[in-house]
Amino acid sequence: MWDLIVVGGGSAGVATAIAAARKGCSTLLIEKMNFLGGQATGGLVTPMMRNFSNSKNLTNGIYSEVLEQLQKTGNSIVYKDGNPGWFNPIYMKCLLDDMCIDSGVKILFDTTVAGVATGNESLTSITCSTKSGIKKYSAKCFVDATGDADLAAMAGVPFRAGTSEEILTSIESIGKNSQFQALSLRFIMANVDLLSFTSWIKEIDHEMKMSSFYNTDDGQIMFSTAHVHGKCEWELSSYFKQAIRENIIEDFDAAYFQLFTIPGQKNSIAFNCPRIHNYKRLNPLDPEDTSQAQLIGRRQIRRFATFFKKFFIGFEESYISEIAPVLGVRDSRRILGKYTLTEEDIIANKKFPNCAAKSNYPIDIHSQSSDDIDDELGTSQKDDYYEIPLESLLNDKINNLLVVGRCISSTFKAQSSLRIQPNCWQMGEYAGNYIAKKIKG
Ligand SMILES: Cc1cc2nc3c(=O)[nH]c(=O)nc-3n(C[C@H](O)[C@H](O)[C@H](O)COP(=O)(O)OP(=O)(O)OC[C@H]3O[C@@H](n4cnc5c(N)ncnc54)[C@H](O)[C@@H]3O)c2cc1C
Repeated sequence: MWDLIVVGGGSAGVATAIAAARKGCSTLLIEKMNFLGGQATGGLVTPMMRNFSNSKNLTNGIYSEVLEQLQKTGNSIVYKDGNPGWFNPIYMKCLLDDMCIDSGVKILFDTTVAGVATGNESLTSITCSTKSGIKKYSAKCFVDATGDADLAAMAGVPFRAGTSEEILTSIESIGKNSQFQALSLRFIMANVDLLSFTSWIKEIDHEMKMSSFYNTDDGQIMFSTAHVHGKCEWELSSYFKQAIRENIIEDFDAAYFQLFTIPGQKNSIAFNCPRIHNYKRLNPLDPEDTSQAQLIGRRQIRRFATFFKKFFIGFEESYISEIAPVLGVRDSRRILGKYTLTEEDIIANKKFPNCAAKSNYPIDIHSQSSDDIDDELGTSQKDDYYEIPLESLLNDKINNLLVVGRCISSTFKAQSSLRIQPNCWQMGEYAGNYIAKKIKG
């Protein structure tokens, strides 16, 4: 019997496991993939969002340790706005292995939680699907860090899904009118002549409306630029339009385009796109839909690569070096917890007695529909922040189960803000410490 089983080795799950293990809990971390990091590494979601208030980083603890470790080897940098969250996803994967092992966490890869046993309002054991059959694991306490609230849903914790705020108990009951945020499939292109590319972008975006540059002390070019179709016209639009006319890319490929350079991956660029567009609204909990999304996404990426090579200075000799092995899912299930965090709480910078995380990232919704392609960006609170309460991680159904990460108890709009990686690190660490205190005193 373990003290703690954490299901899901993304940012939130790793933070939970490390914190609890360091406080002496025997901790098993179960992960269906063969690496840690979840969206951060498998989804190639780099960089982490800046989470500052009054020029101070609201996220510290294990998150800072991770980024400081990566910085020592040039695999993360502090951007000019103070954000330390620009990182190399490959090295992040390896570092998370090391940090978990050094903290005493037992990692189990290639293991998918598929069922639960409950009794007396508690989870007693979980069953997992593995290559050697079904395995059963028991613990005093469980944490669901699956991003999709898989464990909680299996244990009968009610949930919400997508834009509808209806309380549900089964995937089948997800209403036809509920919509999820856009799915994305991120990718990396290598062998880009960064100097030529950035000089060219500096020329065409001379007012720096959409671009940002920074040269680090160790000579790395850090750079990002973006293009949101319909939001504002800028010089890169003409290249997209020309590529559409030449049938190199489709109209909807141009809906959202964003790129970042990667610390430690000289001459590579990570793309926060394409957004996946389909004739129907895609449900991230339905494998038929996620299969479609990945097939569509990989076609979009090949179109993008052809477009960049033909039109973007510096991309002539570039090639696709990685397509995210994990589909970019921004939201799916959200548990019904003891407290549901709302957009009103976020806009009012609400504080709570038991604060699991502090954030001032705004409401940020990426729409799936092609006729409504703009982000809906809620108010950002530069000098203040809101808190995520412990009660959004707890539920009334199963008393030895906490939920951490992007699937905690919140409304659709609130989730679009709290989902960023710094918040997942904070709430994971908080949950690990909270559980250790309960078990070890
Ligand atoms: C396209 C996109 C762009 C984004 N951009 C940014 C950004 O710029 N900056 C930022 O900070 N955030 C961004 N985010 C948000 C952020 O990356 C995620 O919300 C965050 O990483 C989620 O962390 P998590 O730990 O909750 O879940 P995840 O990282 O999804 O981790 C969940 C883990 O659980 C595992 N798992 C799932 N089910 C099971 C199961 N049944 N059994 C065993 N294991 C299981 C998964 O394999 C995974 O490793 C973006 C997200 C997306 C999709």
